[in-house]
Amino acid sequence: MSKKKSRPQPFPAPEITGIVDAHTHLTSCRDASVETLLERAISGGIGEICTVGDDLVEAEQALRAAQKHPNLHAACAIHPTKADQLDDDAKTRLQEMARDENCVAIGETGLDTYWIRHSPATTASLEQQEASLRWHIQLAREVGKTLMIHNREADADLLRILDDEPAPPQVMLHCFSSPVEMAKEAIERGWVLSFAGNVTFKRNDELRQAASLVPKGQLLIETDAPFMTPEPFRGAPNEPSLVGYTALCVAQQRNQTPEELAAEVRATYRRVYGLTESNV
Ligand SMILES: [Zn+2]
Ligand SMILES: [Zn+2]
Repeated sequence: MSKKKSRPQPFPAPEITGIVDAHTHLTSCRDASVETLLERAISGGIGEICTVGDDLVEAEQALRAAQKHPNLHAACAIHPTKADQLDDDAKTRLQEMARDENCVAIGETGLDTYWIRHSPATTASLEQQEASLRWHIQLAREVGKTLMIHNREADADLLRILDDEPAPPQVMLHCFSSPVEMAKEAIERGWVLSFAGNVTFKRNDELRQAASLVPKGQLLIETDAPFMTPEPFRGAPNEPSLVGYTALCVAQQRNQTPEELAAEVRATYRRVYGLTESNV
């Protein structure tokens, strides 16, 4: 854990016109309102943002915000660490939310063994997480939307479960943080890999290598704010307007200009989230 830092104001974020933030938690960024965060992001050149909630209340907030703002979309699900909250009422409500046109993906769902090991008393068990993941896979298939996966230290179980279930229309691995071998496996399966601020961290050479391998059309960029703040502000609160630092790092790895990367990633965002018919 890095120590708390404050961020210089006004925000010195790189301006890359049209870049997107494919996964963030606007309602968890407590140091500013959703409106302020969006305003800062849009004035910094960010084209579109997908916001996510970790539980039913936050998923509802994400969806309501997306209904209000044309540049904002929502993903709805119960987070794997809270999979014990997926009761019948939650399922009914999620089924309704999933059908809303502003809900563009089912997520984040998946597996997280890190928190099972570090905080077992407050984290859903692996069995609960697996049952919840299977339910969300089925929901993604029912509504024909992308399955947005959270995977923390659970590669083998994730592959096993996804092999077991009929495939959803698209799988997106948010905050990709696995070894290169898993990146190759995911690429082979046609999944989309989304990189967050940890790709900029000094020790994460392997993540940068993974980012350089992903074919055009399978790559996304995200903040996962308020966590995972990219360098040079690691340790300070994160927000969508900082996504450009991650984009700069990934573009460099791929020998692309930031503008080329932004255009490719935006086309992928629109395709993966069902926002365009074009096959870019
Ligand atoms: Zn996550
Ligand atoms: Zn997240």
